[in-house]
Amino acid sequence: MFGRSRKPIPARTAGELDAMEAAGRIVGDALVAVRAAARAGVSTAELDALAEETIRAAGAIPSFKGFEGFPGSICASVNDVIVHGIPSSAVILGEGDLVSIDCGAILDGWHGDSAWTFGVGELSAADAALNDATAQVLSEGLEAMLPGNRLTDVSAALEAATQKAADDFGIELFIVDGYGGHGIGRSMHEDPYLPNEGRPGRGPQIAEGSCLAIEPMLAAGTAASTVDSDDWTVRTADGSRASHWEHTVVATASGPRILTPRPER
Ligand code: MG
Ligand code: MG
Repeated sequence: MFGRSRKPIPARTAGELDAMEAAGRIVGDALVAVRAAARAGVSTAELDALAEETIRAAGAIPSFKGFEGFPGSICASVNDVIVHGIPSSAVILGEGDLVSIDCGAILDGWHGDSAWTFGVGELSAADAALNDATAQVLSEGLEAMLPGNRLTDVSAALEAATQKAADDFGIELFIVDGYGGHGIGRSMHEDPYLPNEGRPGRGPQIAEGSCLAIEPMLAAGTAASTVDSDDWTVRTADGSRASHWEHTVVATASGPRILTPRPER
C-alpha cells in the first residue's frame, strides 16, 4: 500500500499551524462541554446540539455536519460502537456507558479533528482499563510524530504502544482492523491514510510542519467490526467495548505539538 515515494506530507507554515490550532482549540472546548453534559438520561442528540452550539458560538463551522451526508456535528459512539455513531434522541446515556465523542471544526478554512472517550458516571474496572490504555497508546504513539520519520514509524509506534499498554494494564487489546488516522489541513481527511499498526520505515516522510490526525481505536475482544444498516455506525463484531482517542498533531523540530488541546486529558 505504500510505495517508495519519500515525498513528504505537506508542511504547514507557522501561521497556518496557528490557524489549525485555533480550530483545534474550538474542538477541544466542544469536547469539554459535551463531556460535562454527558450524564445518565441525556441523549446523544442533546450532546450533538451542544457541540454545534459551542462550535458556532466560537465562529467556526462543524466539519462533520453534512460530511458525506453525516447528519451530526459529532460522532457519538456508545459501548460496542467503535466510531461513526449517529447522534440520536433515541440513544439515552446510562450509568457506566463508555462514550466516545469525535468532533471536528473548520475555522478560516483550517480543520481540527479530535476524539475523546469517557465514562458516564463510574466505569467498570475492565472498561476503565480499556479506556486508560487507549489514552496511553495515543500519547505514546504520537511521540513518533517527528521530522525525518516515515509515516509508518507512527503506525509501528502505535502498535508497540498497544502491546505495552496491554502488558501495563494486564488486559487484551485489539487494534480495530481497517480504520486509522489521516492527513489533515484544508480538508478534514487528506492523504496519507495512517494505519494504526504495521512495519516502520514506509510511506511518505514526515517533515517539520507535517500534520496528521492520529487516532487509535482499540477493542476489548476482537479486531473485527461490522457496519449497521445506517451505513455509518461501526461496531465491534463480538459486542465487546471499544475506545477511541484522537488528536491532530504537527511534527516540529522540538517534538510533536498537539493542535487540538483541551484543559483535561
Ligand atoms: Mg475524528
Ligand atoms: Mg480523524
